[in-house]
Amino acid sequence: MSILVVGTVAFDSIETPSGSAERVLGGSATYFSFAASLFAPVRVVGVIGEDFPQEHLDLFSRRGIDIQGLKKEKGETFHWRGRYHEDLNVRDTIELHLNVLSSFVPRLPESYRETDYVFLGNIDPAMQLEVVDQLKHFRLLACDTMDHWINGSPKELRKVLARVEILMINDSEARLLSGEHNIVRAARAILKMGPKTVLIKRGEYGVLQFSDSAIFAVPAYPLEEVFDPTGAGDSFAGGFVGQLARTREPGQGGLRRAIVYGSVVASFAVEDFGPQRLSSLTAAEIEERYRRFVELTNFHS
Ligand code: AMP
Repeated sequence: MSILVVGTVAFDSIETPSGSAERVLGGSATYFSFAASLFAPVRVVGVIGEDFPQEHLDLFSRRGIDIQGLKKEKGETFHWRGRYHEDLNVRDTIELHLNVLSSFVPRLPESYRETDYVFLGNIDPAMQLEVVDQLKHFRLLACDTMDHWINGSPKELRKVLARVEILMINDSEARLLSGEHNIVRAARAILKMGPKTVLIKRGEYGVLQFSDSAIFAVPAYPLEEVFDPTGAGDSFAGGFVGQLARTREPGQGGLRRAIVYGSVVASFAVEDFGPQRLSSLTAAEIEERYRRFVELTNFHS
């Protein structure tokens, strides 16, 4: 079962209370594809500039990720600079340079147009729509977004939401999108915009899943030290969609297990700066932490 992702491939400059990193590999499509490729084959749609080094592209290839849909354009690669507070759930965007992303029009290679699991990663909603319009077949369409697009492209974002089955979003962005402060009310309001399932990411507090008939909660895996939360959301999405694609398990049971796998992968992603930890992660490590996660949350009622 193949997975398609559209999103940013970036240079990130990051400051956290544990340290800083300058112009490391980042972007929503990068974290997602590194995570999802541990479960199923992944194809990436995105854009990079002429300054993007071959050694970064090699990291994608080493994971078996198909980068035919990653276009190199004249100009500089998307660059994001973020700073985390002592409370790692809070971060500020210090700089955002869209660069080659500002004029990007995604074109799917013919072989990508039939893909079973599609993730519209964090990118301009107009580009997310371009991708959906070119698909001839898919089984599942999920998406993510962030404050920049909720504020800047609300109309296009509403069109995306009307078409996706699953939205993954963090808690402050769910509040911003819905205009509701209470997270349950925010989720209910977002369900009315189109998605059948909303996954609300709450950083170190875990994830809440809402659908019309069910609510499910999973904690974040307790870690003694979080070095860099960047990409946790996209890694969660990669583990989640990856697990669904690997097993094709339908229904609530399948969704719940996929949420735990997403949480497991995200817990590894934050253990080092950039996607470093993900690029060395193995399937055996994922399974081992999955078992610990089951123990962590197991009780008899
Ligand atoms: P996450 O921590 O999972 O929410 O995502 C972090 C990634 O999002 C970073 O690697 C950034 O390069 C990327 N990013 C930051 N701002 C944007 C934006 N406005 N649109 C798309 N991607 C972004």
